[in-house]
Amino acid sequence: MEERTEIEKLGEFGLIDHLTENFETFNASTTLSIGDDAAVIDHFGKQTVITTDLLVEGVHFDLMYTPLKHLGYKSVIVNLSDIFAMNAQPTQITMSIAFSNRFSLEALEEFYLGVQIACEKYGVDLIGGDTSTSQKGLVISVTAIGEVAPDKYVKRSTAESGDLICVSGDLGAAFLGLTLMEREKKIFLENPQVQPTLENEDYIVGRLLRPEARKDIIDYLTEQEITPTAMMDISDGLSSDILHICKQSNLGCRIYEEKIPINEATKAAAFKFGLDPTVCALNGGEDYELLFTMKQSDYDKITLQEEISVIGYMCDKEEGTKIITKGNNVFDINAQGWNAFSK
Ligand code: ADP
Ligand code: MG
Repeated sequence: MEERTEIEKLGEFGLIDHLTENFETFNASTTLSIGDDAAVIDHFGKQTVITTDLLVEGVHFDLMYTPLKHLGYKSVIVNLSDIFAMNAQPTQITMSIAFSNRFSLEALEEFYLGVQIACEKYGVDLIGGDTSTSQKGLVISVTAIGEVAPDKYVKRSTAESGDLICVSGDLGAAFLGLTLMEREKKIFLENPQVQPTLENEDYIVGRLLRPEARKDIIDYLTEQEITPTAMMDISDGLSSDILHICKQSNLGCRIYEEKIPINEATKAAAFKFGLDPTVCALNGGEDYELLFTMKQSDYDKITLQEEISVIGYMCDKEEGTKIITKGNNVFDINAQGWNAFSK
């Protein structure tokens, strides 16, 4: 039997102390951390970037196939990704949780271990949060705080006609990981004796359960002195996210299907499920890659960077938001309904 310690044994303050005792402080900007009514941050002349995300059990995650350590990690990562998408560097997070008596101390320890691994990897300080009970299910709210040199933050609304459209990494894998886990869950619920068959699916499952935030890309762009003209992270899928940049920048776009980066493992999984990999990349969410636009004159600086793909360009609004397929057909980009485009 696994050990199970009821939370009541520690009380709320004991619990917070216990869960946060192994967290280090990495940033000089963290002036006062956990333990008082509020934390104090001093960004020494830099601008402050703030973002918040709420994760609700049964809506945003399924504990049947999400290990708590991975969930802790991912709940930090999705927020750091938003900070990087502003061209900023994350420095602090707060973590608030509400949980039912279904959760033991050991379960919360697992969750906080994932939080800690993410904080250490990205050099971010946990500076506070809130703890509550819930009647049913787990609710997680993370706020991330970051810093950026004055007026160097990058918005969605500032792309210009002729700018190149770039994405980091590859797309569609997290959606296929989710499709696979949902299928295995269904099989398990119908027949609990059947063991899940996840062989050769490490890549897509990893992309779902253990995403990374693209600090490496922001650091690379900074090194190369490239300031994106507009940027966001891809959380809802490429098609819906590029439409945000188009709408907010008051422009149109052209995207080339053949330029969309898709991993071989993602393609293989898509074919297995009878799905079009391009449709998965366009509509599947949760890849947490960066989508940005930049001036054509910066193109030479990224040709050797394999983690950045140029997938198209921005154009005038009147020219519409379109994708050019491998077969040279031209389709309107829709936030959903991509099946219309399957061949
Ligand atoms: P208050 O009563 O003012 O809300 P709390 O007793 O909830 O204060 O919190 C005490 C300290 O512990 C504060 O610094 C708070 O930010 C921090 N804290 C509370 N819950 C968590 C948590 N789940 N994770 C990290 N820090 C927490
Ligand atoms: Mg509180």
